[in-house]
Amino acid sequence: MTRDFDTSLLIGAALEAGHETAEKVLNPRTGALILEVPEASTDQIDRAVAAARRAFETWSRTTPADRSAALHRIADAIEADADAFAALEALNCGKPINAARGDEIPAVVDCFRFFAGAVRVQHGAVAGEYLAGHTSMIRRDAVGVVASIAPWNYPLMMMAWKLAPAIGAGNTIVFKPSEQTPLTALKLARTLAGLLPEGVVNIVPGRGETVGSYLINHPGVDMISLTGDVATGKKMLVAASKSVKRTHLELGGKAPVVVFDDADLGAVVEGLRAFGYYNAGQDCTAACRVYAGKKVYDKLVADLTSAVGTIAIGQDDDTVNEIGPLISMRQRDRVASFVERARELSHVEITTGGAAMGQGGFYYQPTVIAGARQEDEIVRREVFGPVVSVTPFSDVDQAVAWANEGDYGLASSVWTRDVGRAMETAARLRYGCTWINTHFMLVNEMPHGGLKQSGYGKDLSTYAIEDYSVVRHVMVRH
Ligand code: NAD
Repeated sequence: MTRDFDTSLLIGAALEAGHETAEKVLNPRTGALILEVPEASTDQIDRAVAAARRAFETWSRTTPADRSAALHRIADAIEADADAFAALEALNCGKPINAARGDEIPAVVDCFRFFAGAVRVQHGAVAGEYLAGHTSMIRRDAVGVVASIAPWNYPLMMMAWKLAPAIGAGNTIVFKPSEQTPLTALKLARTLAGLLPEGVVNIVPGRGETVGSYLINHPGVDMISLTGDVATGKKMLVAASKSVKRTHLELGGKAPVVVFDDADLGAVVEGLRAFGYYNAGQDCTAACRVYAGKKVYDKLVADLTSAVGTIAIGQDDDTVNEIGPLISMRQRDRVASFVERARELSHVEITTGGAAMGQGGFYYQPTVIAGARQEDEIVRREVFGPVVSVTPFSDVDQAVAWANEGDYGLASSVWTRDVGRAMETAARLRYGCTWINTHFMLVNEMPHGGLKQSGYGKDLSTYAIEDYSVVRHVMVRH
């Protein structure tokens, strides 16, 4: 069964089988077993870290042009094999093939290409004589060995976001994919083995509590980079504190969407239909928590309910599907339990969806929850599923206060035709990103990252290169 897939770890230049218990990888559309991937053993993780340490000595001293060329090679290789990467991602995550092939793989390729350019155009403070007879200059150097840990929602894209700026800045990596979605990472392992110098990227699959925990606590690791849950982020900080490792944390989100009475309602509904449900809502920036002005509230709920009812899901012809199932039975049960608890509230109305669907697989209907109140769990906690709540607000201060309340601070949006109101509201929101009259749009040139318990550190953009490098001062006495 495993013949058609890559299950080997990458340690230095060697592709080898994992030595520990095999982790089951399931097809979310059917619940059937795709294959089993053996986990890395502690000995294999030790060797991966050692390979990364050895490689760091030479890789960190290569020129930006050399590292740029390597990133271009990776981009070209993924692009040349885009159909296979997309098919594998769609299989492992249940994503519609059009989302994987049309959106995600091109974004992955562009990410490597962006950083291939960006690493060659770094700039910074001016060298000079700040003390008489001494010249000072600033260097920006690589941190060292980065333990890089990814989630299951966009497996290859999160890998690209982590790998490209980190190796572009001269670091070396030990990468752990999510145990639920290792397939594209393991395919890329085989590709990278021929494209990068030995040990620059090492890949060790396995569970968080076994492989992940051992890796982040490893004394040979200088920095931990996680995209994952807030609770997992806190574990990273505990591990990092033991030897004062650097950390880069992209954690959860619960994006507020503030819709003023003067907004273009058609655009709002179209935006929510797309950006609240993309990837079945398994997205840390999903437009999931709508606050609507009282004048537009009723029409927004009615129009959104109709629009969400037309989202294509679970069709035999996958090319028409707009969203797929959730990643696992556990995730579907978690989403369902949020909706069931909301249903018990007398002020709440589930206007569409609200149930699991399909035979086999982990599908959940796209759902709208109207009348939710600020204090309700469905408004406050990250559901990570195809569920959008709508809450009416009375004035801008209340909308901003509600939007800013809570533990998360990743993404938000404001919808209005009034430019002044849009700018003022955006300035008051405590989020790493605020979109105006759109939501969800990411570009490789601009930073992505959170405030509060959504974490810190930026993915994408030249800010990511800064996060994966350290400022050093060199002073010369004349
Ligand atoms: P998760 O935290 O359960 O797992 C993420 C990764 O951490 C996995 O590889 C897992 O194996 C590993 N891990 C878990 N416990 C660990 C431990 N003790 N030591 C080391 N590694 C450990 O998250 P998930 O369920 O895979 O992903 C969903 C979460 O990720 C959501 O909360 C979502 O909001 C967040 N997310 C955030 C962003 C962002 O950019 N901010 C992007 C995507 C996902």
